[in-house]
Amino acid sequence: MSLLADAKGAAPVGGRLPDGLEWFDIGHSDYTALIDADTAFWSLVRTDEAARVIEDGALVRQWQDKRASFAEEMELLRFNLKPSAVYFNPTERCNLDCAYCYIPRDMRKNGEHMSRETLLDAMERLHAYFSSIMPPDRKPQIIFHGAEPMLNRDAMFEAIAQYGDRFRFGVQTNATLLDEEAIAFLTGHGCGIGLSLDAPVEAVADRSRKRWNGDSVFASTLTAIDRLKGYAGFNVICTMNRENIDQLVPMVEFLHEREVPACMLNFVRCTQPGGRESWVEDAVVSKAYLAALDRTHELFRATGRKLVVANFANILISILAPTARRLMCDISPCGGGRSFFALAPDGTLYPCSEFIGLPDFAGGNLFIDKIEDVLETPPFKLVTGRKVEDIAECAVCPVRHFCGSPCPAEAFEANGGMDKIGAYCDAYLDQAKYAFRLIADGIEADYLWDGWDDGTETTFGFGGC
Ligand code: SF4
Ligand code: SF4
Repeated sequence: MSLLADAKGAAPVGGRLPDGLEWFDIGHSDYTALIDADTAFWSLVRTDEAARVIEDGALVRQWQDKRASFAEEMELLRFNLKPSAVYFNPTERCNLDCAYCYIPRDMRKNGEHMSRETLLDAMERLHAYFSSIMPPDRKPQIIFHGAEPMLNRDAMFEAIAQYGDRFRFGVQTNATLLDEEAIAFLTGHGCGIGLSLDAPVEAVADRSRKRWNGDSVFASTLTAIDRLKGYAGFNVICTMNRENIDQLVPMVEFLHEREVPACMLNFVRCTQPGGRESWVEDAVVSKAYLAALDRTHELFRATGRKLVVANFANILISILAPTARRLMCDISPCGGGRSFFALAPDGTLYPCSEFIGLPDFAGGNLFIDKIEDVLETPPFKLVTGRKVEDIAECAVCPVRHFCGSPCPAEAFEANGGMDKIGAYCDAYLDQAKYAFRLIADGIEADYLWDGWDDGTETTFGFGGC
């Protein structure tokens, strides 16, 4: 794998390093990163100054003074979080048949809705659980997820109306059922809304996302995007796959033109066979993805308006302020089963939605078991115990805490075990290098939400390089 050759190949820059520090070539003309991978400490050093910086010793001394507190911060983030969110699937059914969906086809086509009474019972149980573990001034989050949650709209909306004072809500939807009334309700209740669209061109978008009879959903998604214009709490998920990989630059142009505030460019997960068939090789996905990021920056510079690519912004934040990250795929153990869990319509609890459809990862049932006990079951422990230190390639990777080696479901199903890497390792490495290059150029804020660092503190600032 090119990763280790790249990373370790960078070692000769600038003299002998104390144990724990390593050089990391970020592909920048002037700067190289000095990283303590275990604690996620880094500093950018001018490559032509590298030897002097090490010889001088000031940076190394500051790192050594702070190392224990960096390690403590990472320990807290990696092993001591409690759940604060639930991916709540109120139905097994979906009105679409997307090529890469991780939910089994039969379940999506013929599955059950959660009844109104059951859904409200689930809300009450979740409320009782979260109020026992979270401070009263923090609200846990429920993300209604799919299959297609809007198919069970009435029960879901009743839960949002009844529990709006105790939870924050989000809905991840394919947008086909987002009529004016639904949008007024969701925006009126301050719900986050995530839509899915894979390409700016109907013929391409339809290749991966379509109805059971093959009909297009492109027009209805566009209508929903236009209806949501001006609402800050919405984003569009674009799943990068073999059908749309050449469309990422036009895609971000399209979303930016429609004033979408944020999007996610997600790598298609290879957990299920459909995902594996949609896989794109690392070099190709990486080139297309970084070109799309470049384009969002050009558009920002030209118009003053950002289209934040949220999954990339999270990587930047994981480098700049590890504990301020918002998404939990890029830390190990990942967030599945420890900072959130997933609830299936029959009450089964899984570490993450990505495991729905993998019965071996069912940890228990919300209506029978105590959530505290489910979190300790072997299927959950298998996921929450997966850490980069136990994965041969990742254990020596300089960016292991800015990547997290996603995804355990993918590693287990596609590559044969929790101690294996998932897909896209080289692309994750490229993403981290790109993030460091932006920081070296001082333009990282252009890729982040305004005010992303409100409430975060700088625990280390070194101006010596
Ligand atoms: S890495 Fe995979 S299992 Fe973990 S949170 Fe992300 S999607 Fe879920
Ligand atoms: S998966 Fe991520 S952490 Fe593991 S070797 Fe690849 S880039 Fe590094």
